[in-house]
Amino acid sequence: MVYLDTAASYPLLPEVKEVLIEAFDNLYANSASSHTLGEEVSHQINKVRELLANEIGAYPSEIIFTSGATESNNIAIKSILLTAAATNNKKHIVTTQIEHKCIFAITEYLVTLGYEISYVKPNSDGLITAQSVKDAIRPDTALVSVMHVNNELGTVNPIEEIGQLCFENEIIFHSDAAQSFQKVEIDVDDLNVDVMSFSAHKIGGPKGIGAVYIRDLRHRELTPVIHGAGQEGSVRGGTVAAPLIIGFGKAIEVFKSYYSDFSANQIKRKFLEKLNFLDVQYIENGINTLPHCISVTLPNVDTETLVRGNESELCLAQGSACSSKEVEPSHVLTSIGLSREMADKTFRISFPLDFTNSDLEFLCNQIKRHS
Ligand SMILES: *Cc1c(COP(=O)(O)O)cnc(C)c1O
Repeated sequence: MVYLDTAASYPLLPEVKEVLIEAFDNLYANSASSHTLGEEVSHQINKVRELLANEIGAYPSEIIFTSGATESNNIAIKSILLTAAATNNKKHIVTTQIEHKCIFAITEYLVTLGYEISYVKPNSDGLITAQSVKDAIRPDTALVSVMHVNNELGTVNPIEEIGQLCFENEIIFHSDAAQSFQKVEIDVDDLNVDVMSFSAHKIGGPKGIGAVYIRDLRHRELTPVIHGAGQEGSVRGGTVAAPLIIGFGKAIEVFKSYYSDFSANQIKRKFLEKLNFLDVQYIENGINTLPHCISVTLPNVDTETLVRGNESELCLAQGSACSSKEVEPSHVLTSIGLSREMADKTFRISFPLDFTNSDLEFLCNQIKRHS
């Protein structure tokens, strides 16, 4: 099986699997318990908290572990906005048309609570410009949420500039970094972000664990999304998932260097070179897209038979989940102006770290065969 959907989830790294098994076997105590084993578990959790904080230029006290980026986004937006004091009862939110779907589910809920939402449109390269955010902010804007790297296009948004704009206008700035963490340098001060979301399974860690960074967390009185027994600074209730956090920590430790080795191989360039006989449309901004992810439109390829004919050999993400009329084309592709037909002909290809030349041969031959 050639797996080309790492933007949806990276396979578990072997090093991570090893520490996961060890932690499940040995670190079974509750981190809230005051006996030796409980304290050891708590210590291991805090080591990962320090590691993550260090990677992003934050303090450990600003990191909350969650079940993943979806929950982090919920805490980032709802916990902060529902704490009226944090935002002086302002009720306008600026986000974008290309966010992960969970952001829209959150904003749609907030509309029922009386919030107004502005959805910024990307430019034709799929980027959210600082100017477009500037045009959308208002005196009553409480929060801006713009993702760091888009999960369908692999585009890197100008977070630093947008952060600066929010800072100058005293607006809380959240960025979903599920796709960028350990692939793009992150320093929360340089980027001017106040809140940031992370997920372990996008970097070879286990599913079901992530984190949210909240600037000056100790000085904020946040309304929890999950009320519990005081865990994670009372922001996120529930027994802390120690083994998953330890697995997340190992992924944080090892993913980055694997990814930079992978990047050096320039798979995307090789892939495009092999397809140069075809009409291939894609976004290429040089440094502004990630090296493992490309959204390609293949107008002259019978994408339906390509997908159907290779169901057991290729894991491909298509621009619309299937070609039946009921299925909506991707909101991201629509927002950059692709028609339904072209969205059907578009793949989000995201390469695994161990992608080989023979995998590349196979993929390109299959595309060729259906063109
Ligand atoms: C995968 C992803 C999410 C969801 O993360 P989970 O940890 O699976 O909840 C959110 N945002 C982006 C940009 C993602 O790529």
